[in-house]
Amino acid sequence: MPVSFTDLTSLQSNQLVESMVEPEYRAKQLRKWVYHSMALSFDEMTDLPLPFRERLKNEVRLHSLEPVQSLTGKDGTLKVLFKLINDNTIESALMFYGEDRGVERRTVCVSTQVGCAVSCPFCATGQQGFERNLTPGEIIDQVLYFARYLREKDDRNGSPQKKKAEHISNIVFMGMGEPLANYDNLWQAIEMLNSPEGFGLGARNMVISTAGLVPQIKRLAGEKLQVGLAVSLHAAENELRNKLVPLNKKYPLEELIPACREYSRSTGRRLSFEYILFNGINDSITQARALAVLLNGLKCHVNLIPANTTDNPSFQPPPGRIILAFENELKRLGINVTLRERRGQDIDAGCGQLRSRFLKDPGNSPGKSAIKGKV
Ligand code: SAH
Ligand code: SF4
Repeated sequence: MPVSFTDLTSLQSNQLVESMVEPEYRAKQLRKWVYHSMALSFDEMTDLPLPFRERLKNEVRLHSLEPVQSLTGKDGTLKVLFKLINDNTIESALMFYGEDRGVERRTVCVSTQVGCAVSCPFCATGQQGFERNLTPGEIIDQVLYFARYLREKDDRNGSPQKKKAEHISNIVFMGMGEPLANYDNLWQAIEMLNSPEGFGLGARNMVISTAGLVPQIKRLAGEKLQVGLAVSLHAAENELRNKLVPLNKKYPLEELIPACREYSRSTGRRLSFEYILFNGINDSITQARALAVLLNGLKCHVNLIPANTTDNPSFQPPPGRIILAFENELKRLGINVTLRERRGQDIDAGCGQLRSRFLKDPGNSPGKSAIKGKV
């Protein structure tokens, strides 16, 4: 079975090249082709000797994902369902946000696991059960796919050729799965996505979202890279959070919040809390006040997210006036809060939803047409 190039650390790709009796600088050349030029075939790598390229073709794979469905939303959001080498499927999204100092943000939402073991009842991925962790290469390849897509889009639109990684401005690990439950592979991927020898994206432009794995939050605090952390809270008291995020039974709020306080204090890094608003469940003014008390004095940002509807009818977004009242109450109490812009509403924006449909009926999911060859 060939090895996936993006599964290798720089040291491992050096060793691979060495095992093929080639000078070490060839590994650098390869990394440049893969992460800067985003090459999809060894034939493109014209500065490598032909016999070496032929050998690489047999022993190394350049991409591990095959796009099987794609959907484009009215706001430009692109969702893609990928098949992995072993036939599992995952989904990822590319989202476009308003101009920030003249530059449009192009954010990739990346999956880290096939399914998820946390089983939140409102989440499409949570209903699929857990299959396996993604490898570092499978995580990285999602980013490279969208980077190529953007490059080709810009080329088609006649924009001047841009340098590597300018296309994608942000990466959020908020797709399928619990990123911190796949810590080692996630971290290897982040290091390569950040490294100037790799994809070269600033760590500050990446955010890991977690349902609240306390030991891993502590471990993350000790890492050097300034990656942002988002904690999916959704409730400010244990009884409700136990139901919404079952991991809370293992790491209740009295452990999670002090870990977040410590994380914020010791790293000074960006920390945000995600709070999905569910109609009649966690959207009252009393609950807004409880949230403000819980986060009192903690340097953080709260993202309010109106629920995306999934197959579970119990979880609906509240009416606009309730959302506004909740937001205003938090503001009044001094909490830094934003209402999250919703993306891709018309195309099952929440990660996991496209895959859910696909699993139920692979032949009849929406948008199955869109993909003709690999991007
Ligand atoms: N497992 C991690 C990261 C992946 S989920 C986590 O839970 O943080 C990424 C985000 O999508 C989380 O904040 C999650 O709560 C949110 N999400 C899941 N289902 C949703 C839904 N139906 N509506 C809105 N947000 C949802
Ligand atoms: Fe897993 Fe996050 Fe979905 Fe919960 S919300 S089931 S933790 S992916």
